[in-house]
Amino acid sequence: MDISVVVPLYNEEESLPELEAWIRRVMDREGFSYEIIFVNDGSTDRSMEVIRRLAQENPHVRAVSFARNYGKSPALNTGFARAQGDVVITMDADLQDSPDEIPELYRMITEDGYDLVSGWKKKRYDPLSKTIPTKLFNATARRVSGIHNLHDFNCGLKAYRQAVVKHIEVYGDMHRYIPYLAKNAGYKRIGEKVVHHQARKYGVSKFGLDRFVNGYLDLGTLWFQSKFGIKPMHMFGLLGSLMFLIGFIAVVTVLIMKIVAMNSATFHFYLTKSVYFYLSLAAMIMGVQFFCTGFIGEMITRNAPERNSYLIAEEI
Ligand code: UDP
Ligand code: MG
Repeated sequence: MDISVVVPLYNEEESLPELEAWIRRVMDREGFSYEIIFVNDGSTDRSMEVIRRLAQENPHVRAVSFARNYGKSPALNTGFARAQGDVVITMDADLQDSPDEIPELYRMITEDGYDLVSGWKKKRYDPLSKTIPTKLFNATARRVSGIHNLHDFNCGLKAYRQAVVKHIEVYGDMHRYIPYLAKNAGYKRIGEKVVHHQARKYGVSKFGLDRFVNGYLDLGTLWFQSKFGIKPMHMFGLLGSLMFLIGFIAVVTVLIMKIVAMNSATFHFYLTKSVYFYLSLAAMIMGVQFFCTGFIGEMITRNAPERNSYLIAEEI
């Protein structure tokens, strides 16, 4: 099979028939063998009834339906597990992404050799409250991830070589950082294609402003995982040692004070008024805590199923 189109959706009943017809038109015109996998993320409208009808009319339509709303990442992960096409294309259900982009995305994966091609909504039809924070978000994501050529990490329209979607695990809200996940998994050929974007035709956006806060937290998590995921002690040990050093210097300073101010009344005054006394206490306690966190991290890592899985590029 050439292409699997994975479509996560939550309450998009109005858009689905148009989307399916449009994808079908493109696929038939280009002669691709394909499947459309609708992942219904616990919609409370009639989306599932619409999908059932579409599946009756078009044998290329498949669907998975969650019992409740889990989020876009779980929906994508579930679609990825089922995808059979050589190239897997994800697309939002709200008609903001255009199926006309599919042939070129397919070509970039199969001929140009990309592992992943992300859409770039260069001209975006979304409210300013969304486009401005998104610019900042993408700039940060570029820096942290080291994927400098991407302008639009969270574009719903993306294409993947099948192996990529089978090797990455999209969970939580990590769909925003799939290129980063792919890079961490060892897929380096990450490209971008400018795509047409349209204003939402039906319904409303399913994401609020909280996504920016969560987005930054997730970026921190991914950064930590990629740097220290299987060696947490390298971070916590360093922090612990630094804290200990600060504590040690502070203790020595306090001791010198005692020697210099032999008079014990003066020393007591120095001790409780001295910043070094409190610094040594705080720094040493924090140091021990960092070390303990590191050891716990190492023990968890020791049992992580992923600790020894590597993507092999070549073997002779
Ligand atoms: N979506 C989903 N589960 C959710 C929220 C959204 O499957 O919990 C789907 C939604 O139906 C759409 C896609 O994810 O197909 C992108 O969502 P939306 O268009 O609301 O995001 P925006 O374009 O506003 O960023
Ligand atoms: Mg949308």
